[in-house]
Amino acid sequence: MTSYLVLGGGVSGLTAADDIVRADPRAQVLLLEGGDRVGGKLRAGELAGRQLDVGAEAVVARRPEGLEMIERAGLGDEVVHPTGASARIWSRGRLHPVPGRTFMGVPADPDGLRGLLTDEEVARAAHERALTTAATDVSVADLVGPRLGDAVVQRLVEPLLGGVYAGQAELLSAAVTLPALLRAARAGEPLLATVARLLPPSAADAGARPPVFATVAGGLHRLPAALAAQLARRGVTVRTGTLVRELHALPGGGFEVVTGPRPDPTAYRADRVVLALPPAPASRLLREVAPEASALLGEVETASSAVVTLAFRAAELGALDASGFLVPAVDGRTVKASTFSAAKWDWVAEEGRGAGPDGEDLTFVRVSVGRHREEATLQVPDPELVRVCLAELGTALDRELPAPVDRHVQRWGGALPQHAVGHLDRIAAVREALAGVPGLVGCGAAYDGVGVPACVTSAHRAVDELMG
Ligand SMILES: Cc1cc2nc3c(=O)[nH]c(=O)nc-3n(C[C@H](O)[C@H](O)[C@H](O)COP(=O)(O)OP(=O)(O)OC[C@H]3O[C@@H](n4cnc5c(N)ncnc54)[C@H](O)[C@@H]3O)c2cc1C
Repeated sequence: MTSYLVLGGGVSGLTAADDIVRADPRAQVLLLEGGDRVGGKLRAGELAGRQLDVGAEAVVARRPEGLEMIERAGLGDEVVHPTGASARIWSRGRLHPVPGRTFMGVPADPDGLRGLLTDEEVARAAHERALTTAATDVSVADLVGPRLGDAVVQRLVEPLLGGVYAGQAELLSAAVTLPALLRAARAGEPLLATVARLLPPSAADAGARPPVFATVAGGLHRLPAALAAQLARRGVTVRTGTLVRELHALPGGGFEVVTGPRPDPTAYRADRVVLALPPAPASRLLREVAPEASALLGEVETASSAVVTLAFRAAELGALDASGFLVPAVDGRTVKASTFSAAKWDWVAEEGRGAGPDGEDLTFVRVSVGRHREEATLQVPDPELVRVCLAELGTALDRELPAPVDRHVQRWGGALPQHAVGHLDRIAAVREALAGVPGLVGCGAAYDGVGVPACVTSAHRAVDELMG
């Protein structure tokens, strides 16, 4: 019987544990999670007595991995999709529709950007400069800016990417975030024509495609809890409140991890270990057993953010005719994005019915703050963060906001690994270094992408390597 330790109980660690017991039902698996619950970035907060997502809220439904894990967790019947309300970009003081026929913000037809961009900026984008990229990776800004102009990067591409990475276009890797467009650029093909080829030929074709996003009715935070329950049924032990401090390779093979307070440590031993941790703790734990992988993971920067969720009396706030908005960093606002959760998700609207203090309907709005290397915006007390969010939300909506009935602030320190230029090479080198330590693998948001499906993929790959 082979024994396994899975370190980290986010979606990556839970997936890895599940993969292990599926591949080997006799395996002895112990999952150690430092926090007081499993889920990591999938987490609920309570507002007005309702449980709402205050971390990840949806999975990309056009990749199978996220939905497959929802299925495995037994929640397949509860998959729901957004209402179809469309998003806006709050740029230069106005809310603009997100232009159609774009691929991560890169347009097929620059004319569709009119309004969001000035006529000169549209003309600049329409005159794409013919360039060939020689490098195997460049930043998103270096890929798109010289071809279509900086305005496309700043007012469209960066806000869309910022919604995922909270990152800067000057730093993010095009090979990770826009691989199809980088391939085209390396082949000397124009971006506009490439996007036109990648997108469905017409709006009707686009409408016929399955929805882009999905979640679980009641919130994506239900996924980790349901996965952990499944794991328990399969004999996996999940121990929360167990922060791992040390990882050692044992002379005769296998590993030992140390948890608990220094004066009273607890050691666990296993034949094999999966590190499903954010890059900073993974780097710390690997210092002794895999110093090169440790150093490489230590180079992965992270962005901190905060999610402020507000509950308003629906009648007082008035109708919201969009799913939310994104904000270009160049406009200097604190708010990065906002989701009008009750307009975007029917299940959230349902939660709000009769949830007010006097039985009135509530509506929920989520506001995201914090961009990579701009941590100072977060270094204010919660009430000040809420005040700034309310002020900017009111300005964006151009209305006097009523006082919220309830509010919740979730801080996410160092939560989003930045996939910077050269990331693919760095992660390949991490995997190579770990391969030199048989029985040890890593996965998580620092590897193949920060989205839930990418984390699931990284866990599948790690377990495949481990179990050969
Ligand atoms: C605000 C926010 C919104 C997001 N929205 C979306 C979204 O809508 N859709 C989407 O696809 N993705 C979204 N993401 C990204 C996605 O949620 C994460 O990248 C993903 O959940 C990371 O999973 P993970 O298991 O790799 O890491 P984590 O979720 O970080 O899990 C790692 C776990 O390891 C534990 N841990 C850390 N150190 C130790 C230690 N020493 N010992 C033991 N345990 C330890 C942590 O407590 C944590 O539970 C969002 C992220 C954030 C921050």
